[in-house]
This record gives sequence, structure tokens and C-alpha cells, in this order.
Amino acid sequence: MRIPAELAAADRRHLWHPFTQQRSWESDEPPIVIDHAEGTTLYDIYGNAYIDGVSSLWCNVHGHREPAIDGAVKAQLDRVAHSTMLGLSHAPGIELAERLLAVAPPGLSRVFYSDSGSTAVEIALKMAFQWWAQRGETERTGFICLENAYHGDTLGAVSVGGIDLFHSLYRPLLFDAWQARAGDAGHLEELLDEHGPRVAALIIEPLVQGAGGMLMQPEGYLRRVRELCDAHSVLLICDEVATGLGRTGAMFACDHENVTPDLMCVGKGLTGGYLPLAATLTTERIYDGFLGDYEDFRTFFHGHTYTGNPLACAAGIATLELFEHKRTLARLQPKIELLTRLLTQRIGPLPAVADVRQRGFMVGIELIPSADGNRVGHQVTLAARARGAIIRPLGDVVVLMPPLAISDGELRRLVTITASAIAEATSGRLPAAA
Ligand SMILES: *Cc1c(COP(=O)(O)O)cnc(C)c1O
Repeated sequence: MRIPAELAAADRRHLWHPFTQQRSWESDEPPIVIDHAEGTTLYDIYGNAYIDGVSSLWCNVHGHREPAIDGAVKAQLDRVAHSTMLGLSHAPGIELAERLLAVAPPGLSRVFYSDSGSTAVEIALKMAFQWWAQRGETERTGFICLENAYHGDTLGAVSVGGIDLFHSLYRPLLFDAWQARAGDAGHLEELLDEHGPRVAALIIEPLVQGAGGMLMQPEGYLRRVRELCDAHSVLLICDEVATGLGRTGAMFACDHENVTPDLMCVGKGLTGGYLPLAATLTTERIYDGFLGDYEDFRTFFHGHTYTGNPLACAAGIATLELFEHKRTLARLQPKIELLTRLLTQRIGPLPAVADVRQRGFMVGIELIPSADGNRVGHQVTLAARARGAIIRPLGDVVVLMPPLAISDGELRRLVTITASAIAEATSGRLPAAA
């Protein structure tokens, strides 16, 4: 293997990293280059070990190098790595769809694959739009999203996004969407009263808005959103890309409020964090709206080259099997409680901490912004690395999203490291301006 310094230099010469200001990437200390992983630990090319504190960007579920998933992918590799779903089918794609629907909210009966959370969202938006058009309700072309929403980085998903830092520059390229105040059912009701007949669908991250800063919705809000959508005949799209696959303590966030959306987007954890795969689930009612003779042109003209990739589907099947075999959700409950206790004891009392938000294994620790304009979240990340944990903030919000498989001991260590990192990064800081 190439020597580490050479690899790091080549990274800086040739790569362009996502969501990264490359100027500081090139001038900061050399990047951590990950070499391998085991369970919930990542190892870099220098042999340093780190807890995977954000599940390799919110997607790892059962840990890395999980034998059942490794085995399933290797076995599939011995059959075929990729075969198209356009005009053909394959067993892993069929079987994963069955298994996914078996654990999805009741009433969802169809699976349309793609390869990222963003594409799953594009597909849901286009399906909703086309479904209404094909019913002759051509007025229903608009969408409602929530303030601070994040649904991905492709342009349709950005159109229903509400994070100005990421989204506002692209306004001229986007379609308009009405933004409802998150958690405020009254405001949504006003919007629907005014615009209802022109709305095709409402899209929401159920229970927790992730990238917006781990923003929690009050209990009963999602249920109310479903009722309001029904009252105004608006389709409900639940984007479970972050919240799905056990993240909130139930298989899907919708389960907490017994809600079945008309369209549901799943991504991130679907393959246990192994391979890029996403799915848009929907009901027979929506599906039926696309049936007809070819000449009716009711076909959903959409599909990606790697749609339903067999290796990824094999990883997805193994991931769902593990939920059963390892009783992942049952074993997660005491860990969620442990995490709550640790956050209350170790993080909440820190002077720099403004708010601690948790839902299941999704945590946002909001820091008081630094008076000197330093990116305090970023400083905490660097201090955590030095202590052996990889975390990644959202601005001033430190995010903890460990794999569901993390042990009690590692969970304790993650919170301890985070507490020390916050203390170090914020020690001696000037009090923030009042
Ligand atoms: C991450 C995320 C997406 C986008 O998924 P990608 O795989 O990054 O395209 C969409 N919606 C939500 C809620 C997400 O957290």
C-alpha cells in the first residue's frame, strides 16, 4: 500500500469532498484516511481507532464487517453484481421488497427502488405530481414542505428544502413550495385552507428534522398532519431516509403515531450502511393511478441505471433479517434510556450547551454560538477525533447517531469523549454576546 502521507497528498491534489470548503481541507492538518472497520470502530491508515459516532453519515445499523451482511454480499457477488430492473427482475430485489413491506406501515404495498435518499425523494415528488395529473386534477401541482426541511441535494429535493445555507442560492432553478412552520399544526391548517386545492403533496421528515439541526416535533403532530392532509385530499410523503430502520426506536418514525403515508422514502440504513440503495414505497391507490395501455402514457418514466442493484438488495435483506435475529429494536430500548441518562448527566450541565435534543438514537447537542465567530461545532469534532471518536456537526449542533449495534461501553465512551471535546473546545471562550 502507498505510504499514508502520499495518499493524503493525493487526496488534496485530486478529490473534491462533499459539503466541504476545500481551501481549509487543503490547508488544515492532513485528512483522516479510513483503512478498515470492525463493529462500531473505524481504523485509519495510521492505525488509529475511532468510534463511528455518526454511523458513517447516519447509515450504519448493525456495525461494520457484520458477518451476515458481508456473507450475503459475497454470496450475491458469486451470482451477479448488477443486472438492470428495466425490463428484467432479480430475486434479491423481489425478496427485499417483500421483507420491507412486511415491516413498513400497513397499507404500503409497492416498492420503487433507486440509489440515494435524494432520488427516493425525487421519485415521490414526481409520482405525486403525475398521479394527480393523470386523474385530470391538473391544478394540483404544488408542494408543501416544512421550514428547515432537508430532503437531499438534487434540485427537486432542494425545492422542498428549507435550509437557506444549502438551498437559497439555487432558488432560480427550483420550483416553489409553501413552507409550513414545523410542529405548528395551526399554521399548516392555514396554508391548506388557502392553497389546499393546488397542493399535490406535503413532504415531511417525520418526528425529527435531521439535517436542519435535529429538530423534534411535538407528540401528535405527525398524526395531525396526516389528518389535515386527508381533510384536504393532499398526499402525504414521509421522508424516512434518516429516521427509518430503527433510528427513532421503532422501525419507522411513522410507527410511533400509527401513520401510513401515501409515499414513503427510505434510504441510508436500508442496506445497513453498506451500499447505496433507496426505495420509495407507496400504496395500491397511487400505483393503480399509473395503470393503463401503453398508448395512455401513464407509465412512470423514471429509473436509474443502478436501480435495485442486486448486491445492495442482498445487503438490505440481510439487514432486515438481522433486525429479527438480533432483536435489534428490543435491545435498542435500554440503550436509548442509557443514552438519555448519559446526556443528562454528562452533556446537559456543560456551560456551553444550550439544548440537548434526543429521539431514540438521534441526538442533537446545540452549543451556544461562539462570540468570536469560531465554528464551535467543527472545533468539537476535531477535539473528539483526538480522543478517538468521529462525529460531524450541523453548524453549532453536535450530532450523535451511533450504529444501533453499539455496546453500552462504547456508548458511554462516545458520550464521555463528546463531553470532554465540548469542554475543551469551549474552555476559556468569551461569553456569547447577550
Ligand atoms: C440524508 C437525507 C436525504 C438524502 O439522502 P442521500 O442518500 O444523501 O441523497 C434525504 N432526506 C433525509 C431526511 C436525509 O436525512
